[in-house]
Amino acid sequence: MLKENDSALFVKIRNLWRNRFADKLMPEKRSAVVAVEAFPALCFRHDMDSCNRDDLLHFIEQEQEFSVPSTCFFLRYQVKEAPDLLAELSASGHEIGLHSEARPFWNTSLVQLLWFVEIGYRRKLRRQVNWLRRRGFDPQGHSPHSINNYLGFQNWINWNVIEQATIGSGMKYISDWRIIASTPEGAPDFPEPLPPFYRVLNLRKILVIPTSWDDKFFFSSYEDRFIRKNTNSAYKGRSLKEALDNIAFQLGLCIKAGIPFVVNLHPYNGLRGKVEFGELKTQLIEMAKDRKIPVLALNDLAERLALKNREVSPENR
Ligand SMILES: [Zn+2]
Repeated sequence: MLKENDSALFVKIRNLWRNRFADKLMPEKRSAVVAVEAFPALCFRHDMDSCNRDDLLHFIEQEQEFSVPSTCFFLRYQVKEAPDLLAELSASGHEIGLHSEARPFWNTSLVQLLWFVEIGYRRKLRRQVNWLRRRGFDPQGHSPHSINNYLGFQNWINWNVIEQATIGSGMKYISDWRIIASTPEGAPDFPEPLPPFYRVLNLRKILVIPTSWDDKFFFSSYEDRFIRKNTNSAYKGRSLKEALDNIAFQLGLCIKAGIPFVVNLHPYNGLRGKVEFGELKTQLIEMAKDRKIPVLALNDLAERLALKNREVSPENR
C-alpha cells in the first residue's frame, strides 16, 4: 500500500508510466462521455455491508417511518442469508441493487488500465448479475464494494474502466464515487459535485451517477482510516450537526447545479449505534421537502433521466 511519503523513485516511475504509456492504453479512450440533462433530487444509497438478519429486520422497521424509497445494495452472502427479507424490502418500495464484488484479477494500479482488466471485470460483473437474477432479483444498477481495497486508492481508482466494464453487464447504471475525499465536504476547496452522465460505447451506454457523499459520518473502515490520515480532522463529522451542515452545503451546491445529490450511508453504522442514523435520515428528508426536491431510488432516477434525455442519448439496449 502507498504511504504518504513513498519513495521518490516510485513516484518518478509512476509518472513516467502515466505520461508516456498509460494514456495510450486507457481503454476508456474508446468510449465517449455524453452529458445528461438532469434535475435536483435526493437519493439514499445504502451499502448494506455487515447487516445480518437481525439488522435487516431492524432496518426494515425503521424504513417504514420514512415513507421514501431507498436503494439498498447487497452483497452475495446477504442475498443467500436473507432472501425473504430482501423480498420484503423490495415489496415495500425499496430498490434492491448489487453491491458488486467483481475484482480485477491484477492488484496493481499500473495494470488496471489495460483492456484485459476491463474484460475480466465485466465478465465477473455479469456473472454476479445473473446469479442475482436466478434468485429473483433484477438489479438495475450496482455500487462497487470496497473497490479501494482492490484498485488502489481514491484518485488511483480508474472509474472510467469500471464504468466502461458496466456497459453490457445487463444493468442500467452505476453509482460510483469520483470525488476525491481528501477534503471534507462543505470545505471551501471541496470539488464541485459532478453531474450524472452517460458513458457510451458502440451504441450501448451506461448511466453514471456520481455519489456526492461517501460515508464520512462516523464511518470507520479500512479506507476511511487511510483517507483520514491524509486529511484534516474536519473530514469526519464530529457530531450529527456538523455532518448535517456539510451535507446541507453539498445539497445546496447540487440544487444550484440542477443535479441529483446521492448520499451514501452504511446502515450498519446506524443499526449498531455508531451514528444517529434515523435522525440523520429524518433531517435529510426534511431538507429535501423544504427545498421541494423529490427523494428517489436510483433506478427511478435513472428511469426519469432516460425519459428526459431520450432524444439526445443513443437507444437504450
Ligand atoms: Zn461495501
